[in-house]
Formats: sequence, structure tokens, C-alpha cells
Amino acid sequence: MTIRSPRVAPAATMATETSEVRFGTSRIVYGVRRSARRKKTVAVAVEPDGAVRVTAPVDTARGRLDEIVHKKARWILERRRRQDDLLPSPGRRELVSGESFLYLGRQYRLKVCPADAGAAVRLERGWLVASVPRGLAVGERAQEVRARLIAWYRGHAARRLPERVRALAPAVGVEPAGVLIREPRKRWGSCDARGNLRLNWRIVQAPRRLVDYVVVHELVHLLYPVHDRDFWALLGRTMPDYEQRREELRRLGKRLLW
Ligand SMILES: [Zn+2]
Repeated sequence: MTIRSPRVAPAATMATETSEVRFGTSRIVYGVRRSARRKKTVAVAVEPDGAVRVTAPVDTARGRLDEIVHKKARWILERRRRQDDLLPSPGRRELVSGESFLYLGRQYRLKVCPADAGAAVRLERGWLVASVPRGLAVGERAQEVRARLIAWYRGHAARRLPERVRALAPAVGVEPAGVLIREPRKRWGSCDARGNLRLNWRIVQAPRRLVDYVVVHELVHLLYPVHDRDFWALLGRTMPDYEQRREELRRLGKRLLW
């Protein structure tokens, strides 16, 4: 058992005190909320996006909190696993020039241009250029940009995601009936009784190693529909570093939702 020394959040986020604990190969970072109303007990909660929040009395030492979190580590990891397919809540975007977007893990700056500047959306030297009709009100323009970006991403997802499914399916030992590109509100992917994989187009924004994690996760679901012991065992054999990838996806997730 290793407990890492506590870390203080940078000044910009002073309101949040954080620390981290190691449990096996997993790293659990947690935020601490100090409450004057709490006298003795320390509460540990896992939020829907997988973040761990600890509510503690004002004077409980950080080392003691690390101990408590370490004791609850198995429960925290189990809880995260159960929530594993769920998406975090969306980040905020105004869909204006200068905002950054990801495609296969690479960062591009958005540039909104008048419509006569070519294709609706294209990549151009580090820019993601979206052309929209002239003369739209600000709100309408944002909606138009969103619609065009989504169409562009979906088109790329429809080409890239089935490629990854074809490449990874043999390692899992399954043959999916088909790959459907969808936009489920709560999941990165799922599979249906007919053996189709349903993948959220938004994952195409993530680096390929995270795309692969979602693809392999769903391929394993074709054999084991629920997150039981067999499911995790096969996932671990197929992708030994899946825990790390899952954690990366958990951290990145918010940026992929807009
Ligand atoms: Zn799952």
C-alpha cells in the first residue's frame, strides 16, 4: 500500500483542496470540501463523472483523509466501474472563433467565417474552419456552427470508428454485426441484442488510444453484457492498461461534450 503525499491545488483554484492516494495500479485524486458544520465524520462520495469528493471537518489532517480514502478505495473503484459508460456533464462552449476543439486528440482552434469561404467545415493548418451564412444573429450563428461541426465530426466518426472496430474485434474474438454512429445522451457506446455496436460520434474527438478503449469496451460487451468479473477479466487481457485509459477518458470527457 502506497499513499502519495498530499498536493495543494494551484492558487487559481485555491477553493479546492486536493490530494491523491494510490491503490494497486489505480490513482485516486480527490477534492476536499471543509465544512464548519461537520464535527467528526468524513463523507466520501463519487460524483456522476467519477470525481471523488470528500467532505470533512475543518481540522481533520490531510494524512487522515488519505487514510480514509485509501480504506474506501475498493468501493470508489467499484462505483466508478458501474458508472463507467456514463458521460460527464457537458462543458460550456460559445462556438465562436478562438475556442479549441479536438479531433483524434489533436487540438484545433475554431475559426468562424462567412459562407462563401468554401466547404462548411474544414481543417486548415491547425484551424477548424466553419463557414456559416452571413448576417445571422449571434445566437443563430452559434446554432449554425454547432450543426455544421456536428455534421463534420459525425462524417469523420462514420469513417474512423468502423475502422477501429475492424482492427480491434479479432483481439476480443468477436464479430459485430455492424457499427452504428449515434449520439446517445448518456453513453460513449453500447451494443444491442442483434450484435451491433453503437458508438457516440463524440469519441472521435479523443486520442486514438481512448477511442480504442471505448471500442474494445463495447466489443467485450458483445460477450458479457454487464460489468461482471468476466467482463473486466477479458477487457484486462485484451487491453492491459485499460484502467489508465479509462481514467484519461474520465478526465478528458468534459471537453468532448458541447
Ligand atoms: Zn460498459
